[in-house]
Amino acid sequence: PVETKDLMKKKDTEDRCLAVLTSGGDSQGMNAAVRAVVRIALFKGMKPYLVNEGYKGLVEGGELIKECQWTDVTHTMHKGGTIIGTARCKEFRERSGRLDAAANLVKARINNLVIIGGDGSLTGANIFKEEWKGLLEELVRKERITQEEAALLPYLNIVGLVGSIDNDMCGTDMTIGTDSALHRIIEAMDCLVSTASSHQRTFVLEIMGRNCGYLTIMAGIAVGAEWVLIPENPPKEGWEESMCDKLKSSREKGRRLNFILVAEGAIDQENKKITTSDVKKVIDSKLGFDTRVTVLGHVQRGGRPSAYDRILGTRMGAAAVQTLFEAKGEMDAFMIAIRGNEMTKLPLMSCVETTKKIGSALNERDFNRMQELRGSSFARNIKILKKLEACPTTTCKPESSPSSPSYTFAVMNVGAPAGGTNSCTRSFVRFLLYSGHTVLGIYSGFDGLKEGEIKNLDWSEVSEWGSVGGSKLGTTRTVPDDKSLDAIAKSLESHGIQGLLVVGGFEAFQSLIKLEEGRRKYPALCIPIVQVAATISNNVPGTEYSLGCDTALNVIVSACDILKQSATASRKRVFVVETMGGYCGYLATMGALAGGADSAYIFEESFNLDHLRKDVAHMVHKFKAGNFEKGIIMRNESCNNNYTTDFMTQMLAEEGKDYFIARSSVLGHLQQGDAPSPFDRILGTKYAYQSMNHLLECMERSTTSEGKVLATGSDTICVMGLVGVEYKPTPVSVLKDKCDMKYRIPNDQWWIQLRPLVRILARHADKKFHG
Ligand code: ATP
Repeated sequence: PVETKDLMKKKDTEDRCLAVLTSGGDSQGMNAAVRAVVRIALFKGMKPYLVNEGYKGLVEGGELIKECQWTDVTHTMHKGGTIIGTARCKEFRERSGRLDAAANLVKARINNLVIIGGDGSLTGANIFKEEWKGLLEELVRKERITQEEAALLPYLNIVGLVGSIDNDMCGTDMTIGTDSALHRIIEAMDCLVSTASSHQRTFVLEIMGRNCGYLTIMAGIAVGAEWVLIPENPPKEGWEESMCDKLKSSREKGRRLNFILVAEGAIDQENKKITTSDVKKVIDSKLGFDTRVTVLGHVQRGGRPSAYDRILGTRMGAAAVQTLFEAKGEMDAFMIAIRGNEMTKLPLMSCVETTKKIGSALNERDFNRMQELRGSSFARNIKILKKLEACPTTTCKPESSPSSPSYTFAVMNVGAPAGGTNSCTRSFVRFLLYSGHTVLGIYSGFDGLKEGEIKNLDWSEVSEWGSVGGSKLGTTRTVPDDKSLDAIAKSLESHGIQGLLVVGGFEAFQSLIKLEEGRRKYPALCIPIVQVAATISNNVPGTEYSLGCDTALNVIVSACDILKQSATASRKRVFVVETMGGYCGYLATMGALAGGADSAYIFEESFNLDHLRKDVAHMVHKFKAGNFEKGIIMRNESCNNNYTTDFMTQMLAEEGKDYFIARSSVLGHLQQGDAPSPFDRILGTKYAYQSMNHLLECMERSTTSEGKVLATGSDTICVMGLVGVEYKPTPVSVLKDKCDMKYRIPNDQWWIQLRPLVRILARHADKKFHG
């Protein structure tokens, strides 16, 4: 791991130079990475250089390689693409080009390089590193550099970051740009949903991804798709008939719109390309449906980077500099990867080589191997998508058998609305119907359960729920008390509910604790119960991510972009932005990191007037020094009762009156967002899948010989969480000791470690102001 806590280590005298370049296809989030590389390097005392136009800049040198300052990367994080340009450079593929590149680096005294690009760019960088000594010897021989110059830079250290919308590199869970591309795809699909369903249309959509179907699968999970075609899982012979049968039966069941998603690199079993027009021709000739083709193309690379990509780029950029900074001499080439929530450094060439094996497996038509190399979650995602879309009929329940028991499940929402809640509910319903079970929807939380507001949910009813924000089932904040347990138990019993999914926030967690206490008195409560955390606050213990917080972060980031633009237009403004979150500082901290704020005040990190004074002085200093037109101070709504948003704004207004105007912006309920982000929709589905498996497993082992479910173990009442890279159920009885029940925050919060990054990245290079 590359530990963020070690970021604070720096040297006062450091003369190492470091250059950063972007190469290959551009992707959103590259600018966040470049910004982080530059600023962390300055913080560490290293001299950063920007190489413009990718390897072309290295080969040509001159003005294309430029030492840069703090302000050169100001106001860049919100931009898509790459501010330093990218190119494909033929010359760098030749040794002669790399010789020129080495000469240019030696002249600038640079032997630390951060390359942001795809596998091609990283391979090129590795070749360059390996040839370095030979290149320098040749340069000395040719008298292009002196022996002394060569001796100063005996090796080249490189770190690669993967910028690619395809998410096609092995070793890292995500690459920079993938999440933003998914945002573009899902926005487009949501738009097509309304027009397609008005006209009863079938849309055949081409999605980018040469050798990789990741974007296609995820878009299918997030919005829904009758059929997907990806390179890693070519359809069986006769797929045309099967696809048309599926479309026909879905139309007969009243579905007005259909999506067929085709990855750019889709092929059949014989490695023959399948294009969108091939698919359209099949549907035209066999069904005569109104079918339209949409090729999203470069739209997917465009637009503003998502909150996730800004944070990923920032963290990866910081980890790259840290890796180079910590090198004691020559080091192996590394690639920075994200695994779960952790930054790691991996041997660069082993990641590239594994990735290349996927290409070879494709040529050999070894599709199982391709999926295996993409990691275990890839095959699971394909399976999930198939289950989501395999509509069962009354006579066909694909995964049920006469011998397997059929259970009655229920699902409800508790707490404030959060993006992804409906996606979770939809997927839960469909997965269970697919396996032959019954699912009841409980409307209006525990109030509705008491009152019997309960209804059977069927396949088509939940069809379009995934793309909708809020809560289709309706949600309340009511937590059961001793009095209501009786009515709740009776209602569960009378509806024959044998397993329950509660999608909700901290109130849902408190409810589960209460239900567990009630089990002693009411046997009807002895059924397996799972909570999926859904709250924009991200404060439920047992998981690193709750549904809704990614959607909220994207709202916060958009707000920051707008406020910064307003400040730039009207000149010199500082905004105090208040975020939600209760006492949990997740949104304020991550919003600050992604929105480029100067600081983030949170409840978990107490502060006093001295801190405020220092920060105000910093802001004044920043504006005085010139070049700054805006500042953002993020403040969690409950960070301090007395130092309120108004107080902070007035303090800034008074102390900074000669330099800027201070304003406040309380984002409030806007943070619940409109349409859920792709991440929340996908996470909702994955949580539903894991919750279903856990519930079923608990039910099977707790079924008595009379066929009654009697679940009493603590593991039968859990929060289903994402912990590291694992989906894991944790009993509420364990979790209640791992959080502060008064302030409703978990004791250990993974994101706290990122807080130094906010401060470092916002501080002007002036050392006096680094604390
Ligand atoms: P994308 O995934 O977006 O295509 P990429 O980094 O794989 O990104 P490439 O076109 O393969 O894109 O590579 C970008 C540049 O990296 C090339 O134009 C070239 O300058 C350099 N490069 C790629 N492969 C090599 C190589 N084998 N040797 C030297 N340089 C290379």
